[in-house]
Amino acid sequence: MEGSLNAPKCSSWSDSRLLSHPSLARAIFQRVSLAFITHPECQLHEMGEGHPERPERLAAIEDKLITSRLDYVISRHEAPLATREQLLRVHDPDYVDALAALSPKEGLVQIDPDTAMNPHTFRAALRAAGAAVLGVELVLGGKADAAFCAVRPPGHHAERARAMGFCFFNNVAVAAAHALDRLGLTRVAVVDFDVHHGNGTEDAFRNDSRVLMVSTFQHPFYPGSGVEGRSERMVNVPLEAGAGSREFRAAVEQDWLPALHRFQPQLILFSAGFDAHRDDGMAFLRFQESDYSWVTAQVRDVALRYASGRIVSLLEGGYDLDVLGRCVAAHLGELVAW
Ligand SMILES: [Zn+2]
Repeated sequence: MEGSLNAPKCSSWSDSRLLSHPSLARAIFQRVSLAFITHPECQLHEMGEGHPERPERLAAIEDKLITSRLDYVISRHEAPLATREQLLRVHDPDYVDALAALSPKEGLVQIDPDTAMNPHTFRAALRAAGAAVLGVELVLGGKADAAFCAVRPPGHHAERARAMGFCFFNNVAVAAAHALDRLGLTRVAVVDFDVHHGNGTEDAFRNDSRVLMVSTFQHPFYPGSGVEGRSERMVNVPLEAGAGSREFRAAVEQDWLPALHRFQPQLILFSAGFDAHRDDGMAFLRFQESDYSWVTAQVRDVALRYASGRIVSLLEGGYDLDVLGRCVAAHLGELVAW
């Protein structure tokens, strides 16, 4: 594990440019600790030339951390490999074994039309799930107030026994299961604002009364799920192509927040995909950067009320590099802005 848990990386407490940003100034003086978890192996996974889920996504986030000066208030941690025990809480053993066996020595192995493995993919996927576990450990152990996992491959489409949609292991589900089964929580909420429905997460927790999932996604759109089986704990809000800030914020205010307040989560996990942004070419929703700040603040207030502020956020989609960097910075800026 790398990084200092407590000390913000600020060379000077009176850095006037830094303190001119109110969120960052508050974070430093109140010593809100945001763990930033990633691993170099997450950049070695590639799915072919021109694929939108590309290593440069993580570099774009790193660049923006520096230019937004968020780098000063994060503590960096290297993602461990998820253990077999951690994966088997949400995946079938035969599936994990089959994925390991498919891992190529060279070249690509196509898993579905959009999803492929190169020689580094399996370990990158283990790092991504391991980051999620570490985030939960740090936050529930009181070593960080919040955590962000800058990882790839993403996870929310991965089902119990199926890789799909660029995803292999369901990172957010592994995190939730770790908090519930290992660390003794009884109520964990998953907040998913990716433009695609998190079918894998729903698959993992559809029948688990300890998990609330709230989500928005474009519909009809890939993967086509999420519109049936809505319940008190599966609060899916499909949005039509062209929907933007107004529709998103209405969904959060009218559907997500009442459900979160009823549920009173002890920990909140974000499936943080930024592909619903108006300038992301993956889909046709029209969210703006300010929507990601706003929703993060709304959810953070719920976390402060019921969960001692404990939030772990995991990167999902987001394919325009500039938009991705800016939106992650907006999201993280609110995570440290208590
Ligand atoms: Zn997505």
